[in-house]
Amino acid sequence: MPNAYFTIAKPANDPFKSYLPGSPERAELKAELARQSAQVVKIPLIIGGKEVWTDKTIQVTIPHDHQHVIAECCMAGEKELKMAVDAALAAKDAWEEMPWEHRSAIFLKAADLITGSYRQVLNASTMLGQSKTVFQAEIDIAELADFLRFGVWSAQEIFKDQPLSVDGIWNRQDYRPLDGFICAISPFNFTSIGGNLPTAPAIVGNVSVWKPSRTAVLSNYYYMKLLMWCGLPAGVINFVPCAGSDMSRYVVSHPKMAGFHFTGSTAVFQSVWKQVGEHIAGYANYPRLVGETGGKDYIFAHPSADVEPLVAALVRGSFEFQGQKCSACSRAFIPASIWPQVKQGLMEKTAALKVGDVQEFDTFMAAVIDQASFQTCKGYIDRAAASPECEIVAGGTYDDSKGWFIHPTVIRCDSPYYESMVREIFGPILSIYVYEDSQLDETLRICDTASPYALTGAVFAQDRQAIVKMERALRNSCGNFYINDKCTGAIVGQQPFGGARASGTNDKAGTGLNMIRWLSAHAVKESFSPSSAINYPYMAQP
Ligand code: NAD
Repeated sequence: MPNAYFTIAKPANDPFKSYLPGSPERAELKAELARQSAQVVKIPLIIGGKEVWTDKTIQVTIPHDHQHVIAECCMAGEKELKMAVDAALAAKDAWEEMPWEHRSAIFLKAADLITGSYRQVLNASTMLGQSKTVFQAEIDIAELADFLRFGVWSAQEIFKDQPLSVDGIWNRQDYRPLDGFICAISPFNFTSIGGNLPTAPAIVGNVSVWKPSRTAVLSNYYYMKLLMWCGLPAGVINFVPCAGSDMSRYVVSHPKMAGFHFTGSTAVFQSVWKQVGEHIAGYANYPRLVGETGGKDYIFAHPSADVEPLVAALVRGSFEFQGQKCSACSRAFIPASIWPQVKQGLMEKTAALKVGDVQEFDTFMAAVIDQASFQTCKGYIDRAAASPECEIVAGGTYDDSKGWFIHPTVIRCDSPYYESMVREIFGPILSIYVYEDSQLDETLRICDTASPYALTGAVFAQDRQAIVKMERALRNSCGNFYINDKCTGAIVGQQPFGGARASGTNDKAGTGLNMIRWLSAHAVKESFSPSSAINYPYMAQP
């Protein structure tokens, strides 16, 4: 049982700053962007609290200005990954024994700095490294602080939950960290997710080996440095950018891997799960596998839907951060009766979106993350343009001369099973199927079953009976469901996030449901008056 003082009040979400012209935060962010744009940061591995420099390095470039190098990052190989596992295991006992309120203090201090003096360091590195606009970076960094504060509070609530005791017996539950280390592998698209994957297990006393994404490594490195500055002991989190295949080979298969905390594509999670299966007899424990993975998120409109907010939800939901949120809308079902107005709205609104450099604050959309993503999006657009089954309603253009720019694209598909209606693209491409109003039930079934994913979904309708019907029909089609709202923008503590089916294990990041996966309960019964009896009273002879 941790030596705990359960005094932490339920936190509030960090309020977003506005960055209005003339505001102090705008000036501060601009200065930080200029500072970070003018330097090339050398990023080491951090193992056992020490910087480790390797010969193998990668260059980190700005997606919307792909010749501009902003960092050079060391890559770990077999030797360093083994060192990282050893360092994590060496730090384990002391970290586990540290009273939980002292562990928590490190993360609460980090949250205060993230929302205070360190905010623009993280915002600027996220904007430049991951091509996020001001607002997209701001909500990402606010979420990072929320993860820390809600994580500490959720841990407290778990620890408080104790079994019943009766006269002469004290029962208690010791929530132990897992018996081994956590392997954390994070995606490029949220600095907050990068930070949360190794940190959530650490809050409840685990140690980890963390592989950030190579395209988010600058912001993730700044976060790692902040944790160390706040007093995170050496070895509790080991920061090892490396090739994914090396992480699988040398860390995932280690007998002491007790948990795997992942966010990224379905294919990678499934490959790791298979690998864990192959090694299952060799692990000291059955590893806990937590993965939040791909999506094919939808907006489904009813004929009674209000068209203006529907169009706004389609545009923001599909194109903010270039459609690279796991929750981004990438398919929509629109009834034929309102399609002409929806189409008109989409054409006008997407044509007005500014696509460009995030340092110009009127930019709505910047570049996709890298060349591979650019090629994927281009492929979908080119095939749709050539297909007799599709009509390009808006966009359909791209330009990689300076940055990896894909213009916001809307494709109307004759079939709800056309490739762009069912596969995750992870770019600013929205596919639409227009259904006959009389085919509502059948189209709801198609929405539910056509794609293997189940992450987010939204319905738009004014008719309450229709909302009831749609909610029931789509209950298993997503983990986060929205009514008359876009399918993105979940906030920690308000809309706990995660999906099922091919979208993940639905362990709801930032909540107790996630935290509990990093704990192994140890039930302790103590008798104050131990009994000496062997026979039971009913055994007495009459
Ligand atoms: P990705 O799967 O390509 O990469 C994720 C991480 O896995 C990276 O660090 C990568 O280097 C690593 N990796 C790649 N191959 C590996 C291997 N063989 N073994 C071990 N690790 C390996 O994903 P991404 O492009 O960074 O992110 C986009 C994906 O993440 C999308 O599919 C998106 O839907 C998903 N995502 C889901 C959520 C969610 O909450 N469900 C949130 C964010 C992103």
